[in-house]
Amino acid sequence: MNNFSYTRAGDVASAISEVSRDATAKFIAGGTNLIDLMKENVARPSRLIDITRLSLNKIEATAEGGLRLGALVTNTDTAYNEQVEARYPLLSRAILSGASAQLRNMATNGGNLLQRTRCYYFYDTATPCNKREPGTGCSAIEGFNRIHAILGTSDQCIAVHPSDMCVALAALEAVVRVTGKDGDRAIPFADFHRLPGDTPHIDSNLRADEIITAIDLPAKGFAGHYAYLKVRDRKSYAFALVSVAAALEMSGETVTETRVALGGVAHKPWRNKEAENLLNGKVATADNFQAVAETILRDAKGFAHNTFKIELAKRAIVRALKHAAHMEARP
Ligand code: SF4
Repeated sequence: MNNFSYTRAGDVASAISEVSRDATAKFIAGGTNLIDLMKENVARPSRLIDITRLSLNKIEATAEGGLRLGALVTNTDTAYNEQVEARYPLLSRAILSGASAQLRNMATNGGNLLQRTRCYYFYDTATPCNKREPGTGCSAIEGFNRIHAILGTSDQCIAVHPSDMCVALAALEAVVRVTGKDGDRAIPFADFHRLPGDTPHIDSNLRADEIITAIDLPAKGFAGHYAYLKVRDRKSYAFALVSVAAALEMSGETVTETRVALGGVAHKPWRNKEAENLLNGKVATADNFQAVAETILRDAKGFAHNTFKIELAKRAIVRALKHAAHMEARP
């Protein structure tokens, strides 16, 4: 690990001022990913700015009837918050399927959005990786790519975003609130993370001088018809091979609104509005769910070791939609 300095920010304005003075400075809150990255020499910040004392640790109602999740609220406190459990059980379930209890106790909501990929080569500084060192190549494309992406890939990077929480936030159409030198911005969740393209080293559209202050949940929580299905190699403490956040509005047997977000398959939580629209106005049947799955995976491309994910994702989508529509009991 390289030497670094440590300071503690007392308020948001001083945190922004500190980080904008040094391009290699990083914020630290729970540290559940950053410390790993520093130990492996993947991240080499010259200074850490501790933001844990900022007053971003509340969950509050918004004027629009939704809920504002402070960036520094832990994943555990968010998942077990009474309002989140009652109104946004999809989010609660997604958070609780991620990481371990100890990690969730430390990890913050803002940090969850900013965690980096778990691509093995990204963490192995002896191998080429465009995300870690732009222009060096991608070891995964011709390497062992079982956990890698099947949608939205580029010839520069095929990594996936590792979060479960973010998959639910994508389905709920959350909004990320950020503050920087130029003031406040509200970023729709779909625009927060990026596809790799030819800049795979940039994971999100958060600017270097900005800090996440909160995540806003819209009023609609889909508490009546939802499912979070995570398929992984072992039941506990593993990242998703494929995960599905499904949320429906229904009138009798008819689906009136559909949200389906996938994790473990792309560089960002993956949604396909065309596929979702296919189901709107239709009766909830296995065949109609299959049509959604086929459309979402229509342009999927497998690599040597992960082609199985295409069929796995289709089956997971159908199953999650069945759970959401109460056609099958949740496991
Ligand atoms: Fe690096 Fe992305 Fe290739 Fe993994 S998939 S080796 S993160 S460039």
